[in-house]
Amino acid sequence: MWSDLFLFALLSVLLVYIFFAVRITNLHKVYFVFHFFMMLWPLCQFATHIVQEPRVQLLYVTLSFAACSLLASGWLLFTLFLTGSEKRLSSKSVVLMFVPAVFSALLAIFNPLHLFTSPKTDNYVDRSYGPLFWLVMAVIIGYLLTSLFVLLRSLRSPSSSVSLKKQIRIVLWGGFVLASFAALDILLNVGLRSFLPIIPGLTSLGIFIADLFFVFVITRYKVFDLVTIAHEDILNTIPHGILVLDDQEEVVEANRALSLFLGIEVGERFDIDAFLSSVDVVGDRRHFLEPYKRKERDLFQIELSSGSGVRFLLQASPIFDAAQLPIGHILTFQDVSKERQLVQELNRKNDVLHERNLSLDRTRQELSKANLRLEEMALTDSLTRCYNRHYLTQRLTREMTANVEQRIPFSFILFDIDFFKTINDRYGHVAGDEVLYRTARIVQQSIRSTDVLARYGGEEFILYLPCTDRKMAQKIAEQVRDAVEKNEVTLEPTQERVSVTVSLGVLSIEDFEHEQVPDNLEEYLTHLFAEVDKPLYQAKKNGRNRIELSDTRRISG
Ligand code: GH3
Ligand code: MG
Ligand code: MG
Repeated sequence: MWSDLFLFALLSVLLVYIFFAVRITNLHKVYFVFHFFMMLWPLCQFATHIVQEPRVQLLYVTLSFAACSLLASGWLLFTLFLTGSEKRLSSKSVVLMFVPAVFSALLAIFNPLHLFTSPKTDNYVDRSYGPLFWLVMAVIIGYLLTSLFVLLRSLRSPSSSVSLKKQIRIVLWGGFVLASFAALDILLNVGLRSFLPIIPGLTSLGIFIADLFFVFVITRYKVFDLVTIAHEDILNTIPHGILVLDDQEEVVEANRALSLFLGIEVGERFDIDAFLSSVDVVGDRRHFLEPYKRKERDLFQIELSSGSGVRFLLQASPIFDAAQLPIGHILTFQDVSKERQLVQELNRKNDVLHERNLSLDRTRQELSKANLRLEEMALTDSLTRCYNRHYLTQRLTREMTANVEQRIPFSFILFDIDFFKTINDRYGHVAGDEVLYRTARIVQQSIRSTDVLARYGGEEFILYLPCTDRKMAQKIAEQVRDAVEKNEVTLEPTQERVSVTVSLGVLSIEDFEHEQVPDNLEEYLTHLFAEVDKPLYQAKKNGRNRIELSDTRRISG
């Protein structure tokens, strides 16, 4: 006999282990415990009647009442889970909640001094109840009243969804039926037992009908459906506010995060126009309102900013039923303040960078201008503003090889102002400078744009004429001579008019038969300059203000 009991105990331990170890929701577990206690009552009541031994009868009677008080605590726990109130309780207070139930169950089981129940005759089928029975009843009624309070509070809470409220109403009906049957049982079979025959099974029937209500709630509202539970969890854990409206714009669902954006409860009407007028809209609100009211199938959105500087994105899309008729809207609210702040910060940094780039660019331009000026200064003569000898030498070194190789004729004109010393002596050095400058300018104007005028030294200048033969060079020399002769320089401040003449020597290289590019170009240039100096000297000698031509026509001279 004891071995069977031992095995029963072992199997029970295994059941308890499996029960807690498997992955089902706590709501499942609470319901199964609750259901187990519900089953225990009618079973023990039945067992009381089929055994003869008073001690065993007592065991079943006390067990059924122990189950009854545990059932009451299970009922409270079930309502807490159903309404979602268990999240507000610490695990310690959940354990404490069972203390009165366990205490009552122990009182019933141990029946001290027959204070719970005592046999009327010689068995416990006909029994009377002592004060402990009423104490246990008080505990049970206390549990039921507390659950009633929890259910009613949830029913009246604006944050409960419509679906939850329907569930609560059905559970309340179940509770009401159970309480009515239990009260009837107590009234008829305990209170009026002296006058009436025992009516069996009243509380059991109540338990059964109440459970039918629970089963209906569980199946109709998919209370145990993992997907539904998960959906609800997801809905309440995402940081975006979610609002579901029916076709009358009434709120049918609002998740927890919505309260961060909007103070609206289930059952209230959501006026989109009033809402959009109460916030600042980024852009045109019509772009949102028009498709919203037309219930366009797309997802459309608008960015809003509240007074406290919070930026949020409102997205809306209509909901359609199976017949494709619009039955409401889903609205989501997403806080985008951080993103916008980041973009603003980025833009600001970009602006700063852009400004730095601009200033860098300005510095670069100034630098390049300064460089150009430096280059110019290095290559031009500051007094006459024509090229200096250094530039000419560079340019000729570059071009000479091409001239020889391609047999392109070129010419030089070296000229010197006549009796310039006299100008200096008569009008002073400053006036001399002015005459020098003016002469350079007038020569520049009388030559072609391809010709190069360079100051050779003192009041001597040299002209390099690319692609120019002897005849052409002679013509240009004549133009220069004539222009200088005709030019009159007005001296400040005396307004005296001064004119000078120049003597010119012309050298043209135009005969390239069997010519080789000279090895040392610089040396060769010096030679050419010496060559062109000869006709100039000749021109001075022959009376000045005239042109003389060099005999040299070949590279080797
Ligand atoms: P010639 O016809 O023989 O060339 O007579 P000239 O007086 O011009 O004689 P020369 O070429 O010997 O004299 C050049 C003078 O030019 C001497 C120098 O004082 C003057 N001179 C040279 N460079 C400058 C200059 O940059 N500015 C001024 N004002 N005078 C200069
Ligand atoms: Mg001179
Ligand atoms: Mg001279």
